[in-house]
Amino acid sequence: MRDVKGRIHSLESFGTVDGPGVRFVVFLQGCPMRCAYCHNPDTWFIEQGKEMDADELLQEILKYRNYIKSGGVTFSGGEPMMQMDFLIAMGKRLKQQGIHMAVDTSGVCFDEQDQLFMQKLEELLHVCDLFLLDIKQIDEQKHRALSGHGNAQILAFAQYLSQAGKPVWIRHVLVPQITAEEDQLRQLRAFLDTLHNVEKVEVLPYHTMGEVKYEKLGIAYRLKGMTAPSAEQIAEAKAILGAE
Ligand code: SF4
Repeated sequence: MRDVKGRIHSLESFGTVDGPGVRFVVFLQGCPMRCAYCHNPDTWFIEQGKEMDADELLQEILKYRNYIKSGGVTFSGGEPMMQMDFLIAMGKRLKQQGIHMAVDTSGVCFDEQDQLFMQKLEELLHVCDLFLLDIKQIDEQKHRALSGHGNAQILAFAQYLSQAGKPVWIRHVLVPQITAEEDQLRQLRAFLDTLHNVEKVEVLPYHTMGEVKYEKLGIAYRLKGMTAPSAEQIAEAKAILGAE
């Protein structure tokens, strides 16, 4: 198989929150978004991180094969779909080994006008078993204010995956006053109701643990003073979104 190199931020050998079962999680370097609540700003710049080739990473994963047999491997980030060739190369290797593959993505790279990207996406769909799709804000303007990007590509990607019949878990980071308003949660639920492939919805409560990374990197933290959502707010959001 042709070898391909990827830029890796970090590896986690026993992940339990990024997809079904116990998972080996590969955090890829690089993200075009700048979400105010991002707790991994150290993944933003693709030129940083460590270069690793696909065979080398597979060998590392295989050391944990017994532990991840009920789970699999999740590619997260950063934005993993910035490195499509590497994702496809890894997906082919994992499929050959019978290991479940998930991709945790914001969907922001999706571009139906880009034929090369769409060809690669089709290849990825052949080898990837599950997408964890983060829908940050259903309101376009608010999404732009939160992340620096609109959400049209992201919603189009969700529809594309639905048409392709590819299983998806939807994730929504809950930030008080920013992504927790009842109206928007109801609109998001209505959008999800138009999809046919949503296996699960997860509400991820905002936390402030990433703040210290911003200080270290010398980047201004836009949510300074923001508190985590209350148990009530979390329960209400879960009820509206039909989350577990
Ligand atoms: S998409 Fe994810 S990695 Fe990128 S800025 Fe947003 S939260 Fe951070």
